[in-house]
Amino acid sequence: MKLSKLFTKTSKMPPHDADTTNAKFLLQGSFVHQEMAGVYSWLPLGLRVLNKVVGIVREEIDAIGGQEILMPALQPKENWDTTGRWNTVDVLFKIKSQTGKEYALGPTHEEIVTPLVGSFIRSYKDLPVAVYQIQTKYRDELRAKSGILRGREFGMKDLYSFHATQEDLERYYQEVLQAYVRIFQRCGLDVKVVEASGGSFTKKFSHEFQVVTPAGEDVILACSACTFAQNSEITTFKEGDKCPNCGGILTIVKGIEVGNIFDLNKKFSEAFKVEFTAEDGSRQTCLMGCYGIGTTRLVGTIVEALHDERGIIWPKSVAPYHVHIVNLNSKDEATQAKILETTLSLYEDLKKEGIEVIWDDRDASPGEKLADADLLGMPLRILVSEKTLREDSIEWKPRAEKDARLVRLRDVLEEIQTFIKG
Ligand code: ATP
Ligand code: MG
Repeated sequence: MKLSKLFTKTSKMPPHDADTTNAKFLLQGSFVHQEMAGVYSWLPLGLRVLNKVVGIVREEIDAIGGQEILMPALQPKENWDTTGRWNTVDVLFKIKSQTGKEYALGPTHEEIVTPLVGSFIRSYKDLPVAVYQIQTKYRDELRAKSGILRGREFGMKDLYSFHATQEDLERYYQEVLQAYVRIFQRCGLDVKVVEASGGSFTKKFSHEFQVVTPAGEDVILACSACTFAQNSEITTFKEGDKCPNCGGILTIVKGIEVGNIFDLNKKFSEAFKVEFTAEDGSRQTCLMGCYGIGTTRLVGTIVEALHDERGIIWPKSVAPYHVHIVNLNSKDEATQAKILETTLSLYEDLKKEGIEVIWDDRDASPGEKLADADLLGMPLRILVSEKTLREDSIEWKPRAEKDARLVRLRDVLEEIQTFIKG
């Protein structure tokens, strides 16, 4: 991709009302565009990141037997009456049709998926089942804030599982928990598995996946020595207490909730009468689990966790492009021709090798080009200038490192391939 062809442009200054780092850099770099409070368009660079995040999520959920489907955002009121949630979910967007019929814009999909999967379940032999979707959710949040962390329209992966026995549900719950840990690790995040309230679903705990950062809204009591962590909403511990797990010291940290998994028990299957014939011939009600990941919030969380004062530091796994080429222009005509020729052939070679590369071919000042490379945050910056060509080299600068070094032109391709794999 040539930067001159990208229809979006970076801004010199962050938006004045950006309240968080992700809002600041994602808007300044035109990864997303705000349409109104809590509602964003995803632009080419941002969409590439979101698609990669979604790709990781899909791979890991497929690997634990999730079957992908796509359910509607527009949902019938009757289903919400069946579960009694039409009047109890405060963030539910309600729509009235010109025919007088009422609909919900889905904030979550238990009301659709339960009768849907239920219509295919006859006996214990049809269980377990796990279905998921990657879809747009709507929530009438009182205050949309923190850039893409809390929107009124946002992306979610929601997985729902159906089981014959509690034992089987708990087995699968643990499998999902492990898959979630892998997903967040692959996105470059250090995640805490936190015990939280079971919500309205169950008296037991649920598990939240929290990324510790000052931008987080959640307050967590975490052990500094082991993995023990509880959401402050449910914990009976206080800061300075001994960890019940290892005896270490508990401290208060702030986190962003990127995922949440629940044992739903029979809450929805009872409402929709999802029953099956058990091995002993008796009729029983299914047990369910539900498991969410905020896919768009995850992109914002990566920015909160991985940046410096100049911009984003995308991990290779989700970066819009791996390599960002910058050529610095020279006033000398012959030198300038050589710079352009070298840059173009490097760019073409990388593309031929299937390497995801963006080239800042704009007629902009060196300061502007370097500032944008830092803002946009591709993992590797390659610079071609009169100075580097004098050494038959390019300047090699990983975004996550402080120092640059020269790499011989003839070695560049191989080194880039090694860098991307590593
Ligand atoms: P929160 O406590 O942050 O309001 P929640 O507990 O209501 O979130 P869930 O119903 O558990 O959210 O939804 C699953 C996931 O969807 C969350 O873990 C989060 O990552 C994401 N999510 C929830 N609400 C929003 C939102 N308004 N904007 C963006 N992502 C969201
Ligand atoms: Mg939650």
